[in-house]
Amino acid sequence: MYSFENSLNGAQQLDREDALFLYRNEFYHPTDDKGNKLIYLCGNSLGLQPKSTASKIDQELKDWKKYGVEGHFHAENPWMPYHEFLTEAMANVVGGKTTEVIVMNTLTVNLHLMMVSFYRPKGKRTKIMIESDAFPSDKYAVESQIKWHGLDVSENLIELSPRPGEVCLRDEDILNQIEEHGDALALIMLGNTNYYTGQFFDMKSITECGHKQGAIVGFDCAHGAGNVELNLHDNNVDFAVWCSYKYLNSGPGSLGGCFVNERHITDKSIPRLTGWWGHNKETRFGMRDDFDPIPTAEAWQLSNPPILSMASVWASLEIFDKAGISNLRKKAIKLTAYLEYLVNDLNNNDISIITPKEAHRRGSQLSIQVANADKSLYEAISADGVIADWREPDVIRVAPTALYNSFEDCWQFVNVLNKHLK
Ligand SMILES: *Cc1c(COP(=O)(O)O)cnc(C)c1O
Repeated sequence: MYSFENSLNGAQQLDREDALFLYRNEFYHPTDDKGNKLIYLCGNSLGLQPKSTASKIDQELKDWKKYGVEGHFHAENPWMPYHEFLTEAMANVVGGKTTEVIVMNTLTVNLHLMMVSFYRPKGKRTKIMIESDAFPSDKYAVESQIKWHGLDVSENLIELSPRPGEVCLRDEDILNQIEEHGDALALIMLGNTNYYTGQFFDMKSITECGHKQGAIVGFDCAHGAGNVELNLHDNNVDFAVWCSYKYLNSGPGSLGGCFVNERHITDKSIPRLTGWWGHNKETRFGMRDDFDPIPTAEAWQLSNPPILSMASVWASLEIFDKAGISNLRKKAIKLTAYLEYLVNDLNNNDISIITPKEAHRRGSQLSIQVANADKSLYEAISADGVIADWREPDVIRVAPTALYNSFEDCWQFVNVLNKHLK
């Protein structure tokens, strides 16, 4: 589909043709002790800091200093409705309606809140389906929910495994498994994209298939948000959760996001853990009224949010808003294809890319398996100026992100990798 050329010149030419290239300058790039820029390919773990973040946070520090508690109403960006300033941009990133999306809490907390509402085992419909290589936190969360309902994990947790000798799940196998478990399935909850393989599951067909069996379908989009086009509303998923510190560049441990499909929002039969920030904004400070949920995803909010973290999410979302998630996705597809081309061009038999080859089945991540390698390979490329990620026993994960990585970054990385391969 692309005709690439394996040379530094070729990489730089691609950068010149890249309409999003200048966004790279809106971020701080980590450097070594001598001030040389490192090649940062770890945006799937922690996104880089936008240069605009500090002033966004500083505004809130200034207003806190100046107004004290009055900042809730008189700050330049009043804290009372502060989360609302983020909703539209976040909804655009994940493809939800503004009524369906809320920035709140952190990821695993949101996953629990969603399962409280949407994992309601009843009769023989008690099982949860996840990937066998689900992110550990998701697995713990799901298992604890099963136990919390007094159920047995070994009977109620279904793990989707790839076929023997394969690493990624085949779409048809997922659908077949869903049909096989049929009316025993209460919830399907997949990490999209998968954190280990980088596989991007087809949300539409999985959701449709799950719904046909009467199951609820939710996704953990920690590695999807800001990376791929999730179209959560159009894909008709029931709920989704994500964090904002990976592809969304909002800083370590920053707030998460949550999507609740509009068809569930005002359904009074759905249980929910509640707190005052989910209550009707007009009467919230009456403090006496019965809980009156806001008729949007905001109803799932518990506490008044940490404004300093919200500010950094906002700074990042402004960049996404300008660049546009569909433009970013287009670049990411090309950038990832280029990286794949360079890795394959090494013609090294020890190397295999375990991430799916098709653009629609992956995001901006390649998981590179290196046979006969150990962590010393990772340490060597790190010492040579690359920040990537190592997964035991033999996988290097690299994520060329559309906002701040260049084609030249990819070229330099593969050069460094090649230098240290046996
Ligand atoms: C990063 C990640 C997490 C981390 O959860 P936190 O609650 O933000 O610490 C959980 N699940 C998945 C799939 C992730 O990728």
